[in-house]
Amino acid sequence: MTDALASAAAAGIHCLPIPTPFQVGRVNCYLIDDDPLTLLDTGPNSGTSLDTLGLALAAHGRVIEDLELIVLSHQHMDHLGLASILARRSGAEVAALDLLAPWVARYGEAMESDDVFAARVMTEHGIPEDVRLALLAASHAYRALGAACTVTTPLADGATLTFRDRTLRVWHRPGHSPSDTIFHDERRGIVLGADHLIKHISSNPLISRPLDVPLGDDPPDRPHALEIYLASLRATRAMADVSVVLAGHGEPVTDHVALIDDRFKGHGRRARKIRRLLEDGPMTAYEIAGALWGTVAVTQAYLTLSEVLGHADLLVADGRIVEEVGDDGVTRLRAAG
Ligand SMILES: [Zn+2]
Repeated sequence: MTDALASAAAAGIHCLPIPTPFQVGRVNCYLIDDDPLTLLDTGPNSGTSLDTLGLALAAHGRVIEDLELIVLSHQHMDHLGLASILARRSGAEVAALDLLAPWVARYGEAMESDDVFAARVMTEHGIPEDVRLALLAASHAYRALGAACTVTTPLADGATLTFRDRTLRVWHRPGHSPSDTIFHDERRGIVLGADHLIKHISSNPLISRPLDVPLGDDPPDRPHALEIYLASLRATRAMADVSVVLAGHGEPVTDHVALIDDRFKGHGRRARKIRRLLEDGPMTAYEIAGALWGTVAVTQAYLTLSEVLGHADLLVADGRIVEEVGDDGVTRLRAAG
């Protein structure tokens, strides 16, 4: 156990790594041994995860039925899949960002809308039909790893969650997903950061359907996910009283300012690389992803597309590139000037 995890444990916060079938590996859920007895994030909706979670709770002398509060950090299935089963078995309240509550209440429908939106973004940016269909099929296959659940305690941005021994301040930090929420124990300097900031990988600012557009309605425009994410990172960088960020994957972050500065540098480098590629002529975002990452771009096409479009948004805002929609309905990026 790292020193940071040991001191979190001394403060009653225990990391419970739960397996997922995703490339990212285990998801870190956190047991907050307080009143109410709380679990932050649940792991995906699978027997293996439920089993592992049961064993992990037992190692702390607890069972699922003891849980009194389940807190959700964001909408990804590896974080919330078991929420409904755990809440039913324990009678626990479920707390999540207010914006997320309607989404998770209608999980199946919400995932379908998200996929329709993603398919539109993929078509507009030149992802070929076979790749698009393969990605949608994969999304369908994974869908049951999440599940609908009723949020009984919707949380506003800036609100607090009060326990016997601590208070957690709730901050909305969208970017990696539209619902990313972090929880700050100001007195102890501990942030439960989930996927907002991960030490060993740069969190992907995935282009997702905005939560404030009613399900069934077509969102007018795709969100500028990277700009949104960078604004969230700036807000986190400016936070005082942070000694550790307990992440949703991997090890705790003990110097969040240095890590965030590093992320900003990485993004600057990538934007310059994309601008250089366009000196040879206009390209679709999909072609740029292929040039940057080769075959990885096929299996992770949506992820890398999101990444390219995020940087394209920054370059467009700076006037260094322009977006043009061709007669074929596909958007191409062109160097400006
Ligand atoms: Zn996530």
